[in-house]
Amino acid sequence: MKPFGYYRAASTSEALKLAGAAPDGTGRLLAGGTDLIPLLKDRVVEADRLVDIKRIGDVDRIVTVSEQGAVIGALATLADVAGDVRLDVYARMLGQAARSAATPQIRAMATVGGNLLQRPRCWYFRNDAFHCWLEGGEDCPARTGQNQLHAIFPGGDGTPCCAVQPSDLAPCLVALEAELVLRTANGDERVVAAEAFFRLPTDERRTETVLRNELLTAVRLPPLPTGTRTAYAKAASRKTWSFALASIAARLEIHDGRIDDARLVLGGVAGVPWRARAAEAILRGDTPSDALFVRAARRALADAQPLAHNRYKVPLARGLLERTLRDLCA
Ligand SMILES: Cc1cc2nc3c(=O)[nH]c(=O)nc-3n(C[C@H](O)[C@H](O)[C@H](O)COP(=O)(O)OP(=O)(O)OC[C@H]3O[C@@H](n4cnc5c(N)ncnc54)[C@H](O)[C@@H]3O)c2cc1C
Ligand code: SF4
Repeated sequence: MKPFGYYRAASTSEALKLAGAAPDGTGRLLAGGTDLIPLLKDRVVEADRLVDIKRIGDVDRIVTVSEQGAVIGALATLADVAGDVRLDVYARMLGQAARSAATPQIRAMATVGGNLLQRPRCWYFRNDAFHCWLEGGEDCPARTGQNQLHAIFPGGDGTPCCAVQPSDLAPCLVALEAELVLRTANGDERVVAAEAFFRLPTDERRTETVLRNELLTAVRLPPLPTGTRTAYAKAASRKTWSFALASIAARLEIHDGRIDDARLVLGGVAGVPWRARAAEAILRGDTPSDALFVRAARRALADAQPLAHNRYKVPLARGLLERTLRDLCA
């Protein structure tokens, strides 16, 4: 591992200035370090300067819940989210997702900001023997190689990358219409809808989000209409310490036995949290029934284009969605 300088910032502005002033341009923000440090050790990313943001005064670890919705500070840990009963009352899916992630030890260190900004779990990306397209190389070895864990929905915008978005929280934030607050070194703020924050990498931007030289300070969640029910379900190869092979963040608004609104977001199947819009449209305005759930789940996966080794994800995600809808309406 290459030697690096360690700095502890006191504010957002100082953190971004310190990181931006790294001599060879490889200053990096360090939160819990559970993703960044392994990437440095494996020589996947380089840093000559790490700027610790865990103690900056103007970004919270705090979660607030009120009639106006909820705000989760970017420095809140997954354990904070997993253990907050107020968030369970606001939207059950958040705690379910946080509790399903990693292990108790990692959840105690891992921040919400870092979870949303963690890099893909693609074998080729994390192996310094390869220099794949996402790392600035020419092509994507996963397309024709080991793609068991990769996307079943094709990348748009001509991206060759077929790695999946690994965060368990990300599909929930899209389902809940969250907004992410991003701050620059001079204090300017921009607020980006979660759905617009996660973007497939492009030739010009080989990253998985639209974050620029900014620090993510908070996640804002709007109040949910009465009658809203939410759930997060995850299929993984182990019960713990395992990323989603497929997951579903489902949000239904039910009044008088009718589904008035639906938002279904799949995880583990695409490079971004994958909105199943056509399936949402099938549910909207109809009465919950097994037949309806089967139809919606079939539609959600109808356009999947699996790679050579990940066909199993299609029935897996379909079954998970069907079961989650049934549980939500039980
Ligand atoms: C064994 C293992 C199992 C795991 N299983 C799961 C799982 O099942 N589900 C899941 O969702 N995740 C899982 N993870 C990933 C884990 O949740 C992330 O590693 C963690 O959330 C990252 O948070 P961190 O605070 O440690 O980020 P760091 O490692 O410190 O940072 C990660 C990246 O985010 C950037 N960053 C961090 N905070 C900010 C901010 N506020 N503003 C701007 N940039 C920022 C850093 O610069 C860095 O690029 C697992 C990780 C491990 C090691
Ligand atoms: S899927 Fe993406 S991260 Fe993996 S090898 Fe291909 S370009 Fe690289």
